[in-house]
Amino acid sequence: MRVIAPQAMDTLIRLLSEDGYEVVGPTRREGAIVYDRVHGLDDLPAGWGDDHAPGRYRLWQRDDQALFGYVVGPHSWKKYLFPPRETLVRVHRRDDGGFETENGEPSPPRRAFIGVRPCELAAIDVQDRVFLGQAVRDRAYGARREGVFLVAVNCAEPGGTCFCASMDTGPRAKSGFDMALTEVIEGGMHVLVAEAGTEAGEALLQRLEPREADDAERRAAERVWREAPQRMGRAMPTNARDVIARSLEHPRWEETARRCLSCANCTLVCPTCFCAQMEEVPDLEGRVSERVRTWDSCFNGEHSYMVGGTHRTTVAARYRQWLSHKLSTWHDQFGTSGCVGCGRCITWCPVGIDITEEVAGLAGGGDS
Ligand code: SF4
Ligand code: SF4
Repeated sequence: MRVIAPQAMDTLIRLLSEDGYEVVGPTRREGAIVYDRVHGLDDLPAGWGDDHAPGRYRLWQRDDQALFGYVVGPHSWKKYLFPPRETLVRVHRRDDGGFETENGEPSPPRRAFIGVRPCELAAIDVQDRVFLGQAVRDRAYGARREGVFLVAVNCAEPGGTCFCASMDTGPRAKSGFDMALTEVIEGGMHVLVAEAGTEAGEALLQRLEPREADDAERRAAERVWREAPQRMGRAMPTNARDVIARSLEHPRWEETARRCLSCANCTLVCPTCFCAQMEEVPDLEGRVSERVRTWDSCFNGEHSYMVGGTHRTTVAARYRQWLSHKLSTWHDQFGTSGCVGCGRCITWCPVGIDITEEVAGLAGGGDS
């Protein structure tokens, strides 16, 4: 087991920048932990924790200098791999009346993500299946995803709305990272246990000059890994997929719809949701037109518009669509759950609707 000092994060960020990466990590802004460019240790949210409850999120000041002492904020890495708004294709009209096309983002930056939680690694894997694992690959997503360097950070203190343990996606990363860190703070000890997941991760770790952990550090790290799963705020019923499949006419959908604002927050904060819409945006002279993709949501009425009109006209129908896709039909479509248990949809739902409670309610009430 190898450790580095917390201050080595400064070197890590600098080395990745020198290697040509645009380095992105957690920062504190407007009362939240958000992902943004980081240039050194000082940009990380040292000493900040976050409280999560249904419809509630607050930062608080810790009594230590933990660099990764928060859980997750409203952002996910999705905003870099599948941006909220992107130009896919630009079409130019030539003077002779013909057309030329160019890619919207010909060469995206190579990015390094710092502080990726295990559930977020799982979410990236889910979106890889969606965008790259189908008959038609999403070229724009593929170009951004290809060069990404992933520095994961295992969760030591899961939040009140977390349930990754019951989704088998955390709180310790098993794969999908270049380097994984575990922050260990106990008594006067403060170290980062480092593991390499790829050759590139090992090469970077060597440049940080790690040392072997002593016995106390080893025992403390093992305690973090053992105890974190027991600190989950919630759990998803293990039979969620079957419960939903047999509850499509359950009265609970209508009950939940009376609370749901159909605001789409849950889908926008979700690291796996991928609904999008396309629009053509011409310039005023009619010489250039852009095909722009923006995030959409199954909670928007127009999202289900087809020939003949919108077919999910009620909030109950939209909520059922979201939940049943996430936890049931996503398995049929992509071979995995569409939920990784990050808890964002619970924290950021303005009325505190809780996906785990909804499934438990459907399971407990039986079919109607
Ligand atoms: S459905 Fe909710 S808990 Fe599951 S991945 Fe999306 S935001 Fe996270
Ligand atoms: S479940 Fe909550 S976040 Fe999602 S659309 Fe309804 S009110 Fe908005």
